[in-house]
Amino acid sequence: MGVTLRIGIDLGGTKIEAAAIDPDGRIRARRRIATPIGDYDSTIATLVGLVATIESEAGASASVGVGIPGTIVAETGLVKNANSTWLNRRPLGRDVEAALGRPVRFANDANCFALSEAIDGAASGCGTVFGVILGTGVGGGIVVGGRLLVGANAIAGEWGHNPLPAPRPDELPGPPCYCGRSGCIETFLSGPGLATDHRRHAERDLAAPEIAAGAAAGDPDCRASIDRYTDRLARALAGIINVVDPDAIVLGGGLSAFDFLYDEVPRRWGRHIFSDTVVTRLLSPRHGDSSGVRGAAWLWPPGTSA
Ligand SMILES: [Zn+2]
Repeated sequence: MGVTLRIGIDLGGTKIEAAAIDPDGRIRARRRIATPIGDYDSTIATLVGLVATIESEAGASASVGVGIPGTIVAETGLVKNANSTWLNRRPLGRDVEAALGRPVRFANDANCFALSEAIDGAASGCGTVFGVILGTGVGGGIVVGGRLLVGANAIAGEWGHNPLPAPRPDELPGPPCYCGRSGCIETFLSGPGLATDHRRHAERDLAAPEIAAGAAAGDPDCRASIDRYTDRLARALAGIINVVDPDAIVLGGGLSAFDFLYDEVPRRWGRHIFSDTVVTRLLSPRHGDSSGVRGAAWLWPPGTSA
């Protein structure tokens, strides 16, 4: 038997990325292909082709884990909640396993991020980890003792569509959300959410990174928008801490690059947390864009093999 290899696949809306990692977490091979948008059969064929390419390059067979937008419902085996909508209501797990002829593990992409950072990332060694995606959407995942918490409805950690906690009068009812509700955390804390908030208050169209840069340069409108964003993130994460009480929270996604969050948010979350001391750490990610493939690979955790 050769080295135990793990292939992780990040099945994204615009690209499918695959990587093989060795038992020490080193990436041995990596490939990236444009997602065949809207085409379910081609999506499976692309995924199978990536596995074949990487295995032949590595000269070994591997376990396969796949991170997907959305989740696979345990009772039916069908995908739900994917913004890559052509995957929804399709038996992706069964079809990929049949095409590859082996068991394959699947998880939500935010869960893969959380697993990656918990196993050998920023929160390595932490017992309970909440991994957060702050990007075009807001997602999350919970890892306890190195294992993902999936949940009865397969939505554990999905905090993005809870209402923003402790809303101020001008935050109600909040922006409409594609999920059908208003004032979801995602509508405030995603990159587009920050841009929308800035437009509403400052009447200027700026993308999230430009607002952060403007704030750093002293622009008062940008500073006010960043101040609102930081305060909302503090309130939203305080709600998580009150329920999950994690040792560490790791931020991921494009907005995790905002360095000021790591000091400012913990400074503000205390008054919303039901504890006089808070030891939860807020951490920047170690693996960045690689967390999707790494977490998918670790769906076969250390000590297991396919
Ligand atoms: Zn929503």
